[in-house]
Amino acid sequence: MTAQAASTNAVGAPGEPLRVAVVGSGPGGFYAAEALLECGLAVEVDLIERLPVPYGLVRFGVAPDHAKLKSVTAVFDGIARDPRCRFFGNVALGREFTAEQLAAMYHAVVVAVGADADRKLGIEGEHLAGVHAAGDFVGWYNGKPECAGMDFDLSQEVVVVVGQGNVAIDLCRILAKPVEDLRRTDITQHALDALAASRVREIHLVGRRGPVQARFTPKELRELGALPGWQPVVDPASLVLNEESRQELALAGFVHAAKNCEILQAFAARPREAERTLHLHFYQAPVALQGGSRLHSLTLETQKLAGPAGDQRAVPTGERSSLRAGLLFRSVGYRGCAVPGLPFDTRTGTVPHQDGRVMKAPGHAMKGWYVTGWIKRGPTGVIGSNRLDSVETVARLLEDLPALARPKPGRTALLAMLNAAGHRVVTFDDWLAIERAEQERGRALNKVAEKFVRVPDMLAAAAGQLAEHAQA
Ligand code: NAP
Repeated sequence: MTAQAASTNAVGAPGEPLRVAVVGSGPGGFYAAEALLECGLAVEVDLIERLPVPYGLVRFGVAPDHAKLKSVTAVFDGIARDPRCRFFGNVALGREFTAEQLAAMYHAVVVAVGADADRKLGIEGEHLAGVHAAGDFVGWYNGKPECAGMDFDLSQEVVVVVGQGNVAIDLCRILAKPVEDLRRTDITQHALDALAASRVREIHLVGRRGPVQARFTPKELRELGALPGWQPVVDPASLVLNEESRQELALAGFVHAAKNCEILQAFAARPREAERTLHLHFYQAPVALQGGSRLHSLTLETQKLAGPAGDQRAVPTGERSSLRAGLLFRSVGYRGCAVPGLPFDTRTGTVPHQDGRVMKAPGHAMKGWYVTGWIKRGPTGVIGSNRLDSVETVARLLEDLPALARPKPGRTALLAMLNAAGHRVVTFDDWLAIERAEQERGRALNKVAEKFVRVPDMLAAAAGQLAEHAQA
């Protein structure tokens, strides 16, 4: 315990617990809550989540056929069940209260809202029907309320996925995987039905740099070679490395590159066996999309690498080709959205910060405000990366303790405000009721779960009643 907290009325002493609101209940938020619970002071941690359901990207981002990755929710449940922690679902910063009101109630606020938007390609024709953000497709098959009603034309035979990250790979795999292998997962039924009727038979995964610079990981890449009925196709010439790329194989930031190259070589050498094809293109970037009302084709431009080992960029060569395709997903990274009341860097799509302390201007911290996860560092890393990130943020928060104003009413004031407004707060027990209802719906379909995809249905399930339209 710190010397400051040792005094009976100091923040963090039993009589005056450190009261922190964590905004967002994805991995960053839960790991921040965990770090606070383990800090050795008296704490009250309130996890504030805009949706009635927790887990953020673990629920809405992790692919349904990667169930193991979702098992981290057991750790999150343990955090949420700690008596010092409370879940406030269906409550949003900027909707139920302002940043100023929240700051008045808590000693500190940790913002962990992730990166909900997507990066654009910034090319002609990107507005055409048939051109989508990868995140929307991921949200659609994972039951994110904003995406559940979206429509993806899977009657198209040729699909392009732009980007060389794991999200791009997830997309290709979900598009190509036999629906039988998805049927028992928690993929939404609307996605399962659409995928069952899919006519997609040619997928082009298009990346602007080479196999060494690709961001995907070997485990995910290997899975693309194990899709029944699908032939991975790689031009062996695109696997010939320049000198700088060969040097990169030994650099720390390229730990997966050698294994990826090995897997790609094996794909390239594979005899043609399957009818449907998954093409992995390197050194290609779309420069224009064509179509009348909807996408019909795209222009690709060959790229070459320029720059020193470790920092090679894609540079256009002027050599162009055309590819017919009816559906295109840009999978070129997520992007954070501005948080009401906080500064925002529109260039990076993150909240400006120094080691997690929100910065109003260089050298000027916004007292009591912190960030963690993708809204802090941008959309990189795996679920576990958020743990270290949140530990760093919470360490800065604890360093600032002597300067944080007191006393603060914390959750008593928050509850009073929400009750006065007649707002329906979803507790963690309510969430467990939603989860049970989802599992129950899943059992009827022989699936792990059938998620609710509409907020009113989630709220009805929390109240122990299924809304009529959710029962079908
Ligand atoms: P990512 O790993 O950052 O990959 C983004 C890709 O988009 C890169 O190949 C990038 O190429 C490319 N790109 C960016 N701008 C482009 C442009 N204008 N034109 C063409 N290509 C462009 O992002 P992500 O796939 O969205 O994944 C986000 C994070 O989630 C990653 O850390 C990922 O590992 C993680 N994730 C993990 C799993 C898993 O563990 N199974 C699953 C899904 C996601 P450059 O490199 O040339 O910029």
